Amino acid sequence: MSATSTTPRHIRLLPHHWKLWSLPRPAQAFVIAVDLLALAAVIAATRSTPTGAQWITFGWLAACAVMHLHASHVVERVRRDHSHSPYVDLCSVWIFAGALVLSPPLELLLVALIYIHRWVMVNRFDAHRPPHRTVFTASTLALAASAAMLIARATELHDHLLTLDTGAHPGLLDAVVLVAAIGAQWTVNTVLIAGVILLTAHVHRARDVLGGGHDNLLEVAQLTLGLFVALALLWWPPTALLMIVPVVALHQCVLLHQLRLAARTDQRTGLLHAVAWQDQARVELQRVRAERGTMAVLMVDLDFFKRINDTHGHLVGDDVLIKVADALTKAARRGDSVGRYGGEEFAVLLPDVTEDEARVVAERIRHRVRGLQITDHSGRPVHVSATVGGAVYPDIRENTIEGLLRAADAALYAGKAAGRDRVALAARG
Ligand code: GH3
Ligand code: MG
Ligand code: MG
Repeated sequence: MSATSTTPRHIRLLPHHWKLWSLPRPAQAFVIAVDLLALAAVIAATRSTPTGAQWITFGWLAACAVMHLHASHVVERVRRDHSHSPYVDLCSVWIFAGALVLSPPLELLLVALIYIHRWVMVNRFDAHRPPHRTVFTASTLALAASAAMLIARATELHDHLLTLDTGAHPGLLDAVVLVAAIGAQWTVNTVLIAGVILLTAHVHRARDVLGGGHDNLLEVAQLTLGLFVALALLWWPPTALLMIVPVVALHQCVLLHQLRLAARTDQRTGLLHAVAWQDQARVELQRVRAERGTMAVLMVDLDFFKRINDTHGHLVGDDVLIKVADALTKAARRGDSVGRYGGEEFAVLLPDVTEDEARVVAERIRHRVRGLQITDHSGRPVHVSATVGGAVYPDIRENTIEGLLRAADAALYAGKAAGRDRVALAARG
């Protein structure tokens, strides 16, 4: 049974109302297994008792994390209002620092503290976020931190770090182990999150499962900063608080990048939207005209797309659009710009091509779209094809993007009239 948004909050928290039960069975099992594994890690960790000095280190780290969470909360709120991309979590800095220097029970307490704080804050503005999600994320991070702790303790990295003040010099092996610990925390976290995405969401692109290059760079950057937080905690704890500044700066940079991207891309397909594509095309045409070069514009329109929607449903139609977008990106050359021009129409900009080269890319697009293997929810195949219309500058007289698009569109409709699933280029002159 799933809780509806009209159910009062205290009722929604009762076990039989948990949103967890609305997940597919394998996903439920996966989430519960990860939560139980994290619980086992917590029980195993409680076997050691922290010393007073360790509690003090914990206090500094907890202060850093809580102050940072408050600062990042403001940045996140701005981002959430402008972009639909996922929550940026910058807690790994503190969690990895803790994995290096804290004793296991305090490290897991730190993870719990961060997530209790986050749950309270997130609930204020998103009261319908199901608790199992926050518990699952906390569990993945507890397991990721446990992996890093295991590596730091199975070798002598942890001991070497803690005895730095006695003049000990960590060696090359410690550096290798440090990289392995970063790798372990990153891998466990990424694999567990990817697992739940694969089991719950209908995704096709690796970047939806594993995160994009930027997301992963950000994660690794945080883990690296975590080392410096650990060193600060060991040498001069108050300076660890200063690390909040670069972490928040990093967050702001990510935010800026996401907002820029969100302002230019179509939400459904991740391609440029029509206005952004036209802006880019205009700049490119200006360059080509100045250099007396050539370029082509292709318009790609799916054949009988309405019929696909009518036969298989809108959701399958949406799925087709995502896969077509992916096929177009793969068929285009590096440096070509692919945009979603309208509902099921796409535009491709090919700089520096002759008519023959444009035809080759257009045919590649048509073949890729035709070769897509898509099935609907009941396993029936969904046949997709596209007609491609094109116009090459300066073969046709138009010298504006609007003119080129008009010519490509006219060619496209000639292609439709001639039977669809074909390439038609505007005639010279
Ligand atoms: P033709 O071969 O002549 O291009 O036929 P068609 O059916 O593809 O063309 P038509 O313009 O009649 O229909 C386009 C359809 O695309 C109608 C509209 O409902 C659908 N559509 C537009 N945007 C989306 C979208 O984002 N998702 C889905 N599922 N359908 C969309
Ligand atoms: Mg159309
Ligand atoms: Mg169509």
